[in-house]
Amino acid sequence: MREVLERNLVAVEERVRQAAARCGRRREEICLVAVTKTFPPETLLEAYDLGLRDFGENYVQEWEKKRATLQGAVPGARFHLIGHLQSNKARRAGEIFDVIQTVDSVKLARRLNELGRQLDVLIEVKLSGEATKAGIAEEELPQLVEAVRDCSNLTLLGLMTMPPWSEDAEASRPYFRKLKQLAESHGLKHLSMGMSHDFEAAIEEGATMIRVGTALFGRRQRP
Ligand SMILES: *Cc1c(COP(=O)(O)O)cnc(C)c1O
Repeated sequence: MREVLERNLVAVEERVRQAAARCGRRREEICLVAVTKTFPPETLLEAYDLGLRDFGENYVQEWEKKRATLQGAVPGARFHLIGHLQSNKARRAGEIFDVIQTVDSVKLARRLNELGRQLDVLIEVKLSGEATKAGIAEEELPQLVEAVRDCSNLTLLGLMTMPPWSEDAEASRPYFRKLKQLAESHGLKHLSMGMSHDFEAAIEEGATMIRVGTALFGRRQRP
């Protein structure tokens, strides 16, 4: 398994490097967030041993269990919540994650702020009309940006989005471009966008964080 992961990581790094080179960006500008959802703590440890330090998980409870197993075994690692967060789980999430990428309401931002712990956050924006997707609508973004900036315990890093699924990476590009425009209009630096199949396009459009699961760890079983 470790050998497979090592090979996959080399391949992902090569793709990242080439995409960055194509648009004149430096590799260091792009944070590779390894998405470990549904994989056991051992997988996370292997990735850590190979030098990965940023990890993405989707569910508070799942990460809580894995975290208990890992204890202090991964010093310096940063854990990002990349799945939808319900307000009633905000407290726990704020305790066990370092970055919350999916802030999508004023209520949630305030709950996180009340914890009194310094947290890095991103706002998840819904750029497609899909009813099932999480994220704040573009029209409501200015209000939420302002509210998060008023939260003294939250540092607003930038925006995150997830375009509608398509096999074709080019279909994601307009959404990436749009997110970049929105971030610029609010003076925000970070853009979390791009997954296994479309992160090259995301990098070309300015991604500073890419969230990669399948290309590193293989296909997931349904949770
Ligand atoms: C699962 C997930 C990813 C990783 O997707 P892959 O296609 O496996 O790279 C990225 N972002 C979010 C929000 C996810 O839920």
